[in-house]
Amino acid sequence: LIPEYLPLGLIYYDKDGYLKYLNHVALKMFGVTVEDAYNLKLFEDPNITAEDKEKLRNGQNVSFETDYDFGVGFYNTILKEERKYFVTKIAVIKDTDDNLQGYILNCEDITEKKAQESEIIKSYKKIKSTQKELSLALNAGNLTAWNYNIKEETFYKFCEQIEGGEKHSFESIYKRIHPDDKNLFLALLNSSIQERKISDNNLVLRILDINRKEYRHCNFIYNIKEDEEGNTIGITFIQQDITEDVKYQQNLISAKNKAEEADKLKSTFLATMSHEIRTPLNAIVGFSQLIADTVNTEEKNEYKQLIETNSEILLKLIGDILDLSKIEAGFIEINRQELDVALLCQELYQSFKQRIKNTNVALRLVAPYTKCVANLDRNRFIQIFTNFVTNAIKYTPQGEIVMGYECKPGQIKFYVKDTGIGIADEKKDRIFSRFEKLDNFAQGTGLGLSICKAIADATNEEIGFESKVDEGSKFWYIAHTDIEFTEKSQSQEDENSTETTEQDLSPLLANIKELNILVAEDNDSNFLLMRNILKENYLTRAITGIDAVQK
Ligand code: ADP
Repeated sequence: LIPEYLPLGLIYYDKDGYLKYLNHVALKMFGVTVEDAYNLKLFEDPNITAEDKEKLRNGQNVSFETDYDFGVGFYNTILKEERKYFVTKIAVIKDTDDNLQGYILNCEDITEKKAQESEIIKSYKKIKSTQKELSLALNAGNLTAWNYNIKEETFYKFCEQIEGGEKHSFESIYKRIHPDDKNLFLALLNSSIQERKISDNNLVLRILDINRKEYRHCNFIYNIKEDEEGNTIGITFIQQDITEDVKYQQNLISAKNKAEEADKLKSTFLATMSHEIRTPLNAIVGFSQLIADTVNTEEKNEYKQLIETNSEILLKLIGDILDLSKIEAGFIEINRQELDVALLCQELYQSFKQRIKNTNVALRLVAPYTKCVANLDRNRFIQIFTNFVTNAIKYTPQGEIVMGYECKPGQIKFYVKDTGIGIADEKKDRIFSRFEKLDNFAQGTGLGLSICKAIADATNEEIGFESKVDEGSKFWYIAHTDIEFTEKSQSQEDENSTETTEQDLSPLLANIKELNILVAEDNDSNFLLMRNILKENYLTRAITGIDAVQK
């Protein structure tokens, strides 16, 4: 009865290898009847190798695993189409004198076990390949995956090579979070641990990148992890570095703001320009018409004077605008050359003196040097000095205007000081802005000082001023340049303080009549103007530059 109750297939062969008995498990395993199986020969079974048969003949036990083939036709079976895995053990039976008495074969069907095993291997391989794909996807997306284990207070960073992930303590992660973002992070952990819910599953934190020594903006998408009973056991985070996106976004915003600002500036500039141009133009057009209709000589002269003044304003405005836009577009021409500053200042002083019509104002030149030669752009020097002095003349109703310069090795500072109306403190920061005229009644474009500032900025030089209301102002400009200078002795100084004799210009003016003059001018009106001014001379007109050179 024992073999009948065993869960294994059991077969008994006699000493010649004839099958004499098989239990009911074996009958089922091989799909045979007792009649068909009876007397089957062990040594003719094709499922046993010749080597094993040899061992059996020699009285040795054998065991083997077979991918059992029912189709070989060794016996009649109903399982012809089946495929099974058997583990077989054949033991040799001997008597006390060691004589071979028969063979006992036991056989276990491991087909199902085998299938499960291969299923596990398949699943394992699948997990490994999914892990590989995940790792590729994470790398491609610049992503990092984290698992936070609440109980262990540990972060596991997904790492293909390390089973379970790279371990990081809570502290090591927490201390890398930007101080301003730490509370956000704690709030997220608390709400998911205590309330077991996550309100939003997206969060941006700044995390310190130890290699780059900078905070990176990281976007975290997260979800809670639960055990079978629904308890929160952890949080899964997917981290994405979005620093470049944030920078790109910030650049876009600042570019947009700049464009809007530039657009606004352009509109303001155009509006102011139109106004500034229309005002003198109106006067010119209006008085030109009036002058034609007027017979009274006194009125005519008055109108003529007004047209001249407004034309001057218009010309200066256009000149200033062109100059400013040229400087700002980077087309500033700086032609440094050896400049006799002492001589030039003397000349400028003479010419500025002529301009002061107000007898209550005196102009003084302070030039404590017998020689001063610096490497400077002559035109820009004259332009800045002229601007300072013109302003001083405009805004000084009485008192004194002092123009002068001071030299130090490698540097020259020239300045214009006045005892004029001065500038109120609250207006000081607008002085160098375009079209900024603090006094709307005084003639001017409000561009002069902006041009001086633009020149200073473009050449890395310095411009500035000090001023007090009702006391006066001092505007100065510092140029860094090669300079040679000799200071005056005390006696020379005294001599200088006495009024400088005015240069006699009469010999120059005497001979400008009856000259042969070549006028290169393509505009007819301008040529007409020139012909009227130079009517006492012989004029030849050239239309183009080449024409002018030939003539
Ligand atoms: P503008 O051509 O109108 O003089 P600027 O740019 O040269 O333009 O000067 C801007 C403003 O600065 C002037 O309108 C004036 O209000 C003020 N300013 C310049 N120089 C002086 C000065 N020496 N004293 C008082 N105010 C001055």
